[in-house]
Amino acid sequence: MKVGIMGGTFDPIHIGHMLAAEAARDTYDLDEVWFMPSHIPPHKEDAGVTGLMRLEMTAEAVADHPSFRTLDWEVQRGGVSYTVDTVRELRDTYPEHEFSFIIGADMVAYLPKWNRIEELAEMLIFIGLNRPETKLSVDELPEFLRQVVVTAEMPLIEISSTLIRDRAASGLSIRYMVPDRVYDYIVRSGIYAVQP
Ligand code: ATP
Ligand code: MG
Repeated sequence: MKVGIMGGTFDPIHIGHMLAAEAARDTYDLDEVWFMPSHIPPHKEDAGVTGLMRLEMTAEAVADHPSFRTLDWEVQRGGVSYTVDTVRELRDTYPEHEFSFIIGADMVAYLPKWNRIEELAEMLIFIGLNRPETKLSVDELPEFLRQVVVTAEMPLIEISSTLIRDRAASGLSIRYMVPDRVYDYIVRSGIYAVQP
């Protein structure tokens, strides 16, 4: 089985994440995409938006897609989670699966700075998606990364979690920027102070 891991903070999860995962799945015939919220160290966390709530929003976002799942490992483990450790554990637990890691253009550019990236690059391929502001470019990466980064196309989405948090804080609508079920969760829980 081919599984794409969609990692992120998902504070909140939005349609840019959903489209990136769907484009990766479609382009590379992935059987499943597992959305994995990362744990944020306590000092970085926005007031109220705990790992559990980000996990719950992610679960709402994937609920209607037959091939999308959530993976709670990093949130459950807490502390600082490094992708390389999680991926090693994934490979140990599911030796029969072939894993890839789905990332936006900003993360592609940032790959050389990832913790123990040489080690991680030996374990899976990365699927990079275009995103406004950062050019999706594999050519500028070091040779060992060029060999393990492939790309897929998606419509450019000028939405980030930061934009959504800022809009919510200013009383602006975020409807349709997040999946409907996530919108309902946000209104219901009051996490970003969005009025219905
Ligand atoms: P923040 O503004 O808080 O950093 P974000 O919108 O960048 O949030 P993350 O949780 O940081 O979301 O991103 C998770 C992954 O999704 C990253 O690989 C990121 O590049 C990708 N991603 C996020 N938004 C988009 C988008 N609009 N188009 C393509 N990829 C995206
Ligand atoms: Mg980001």
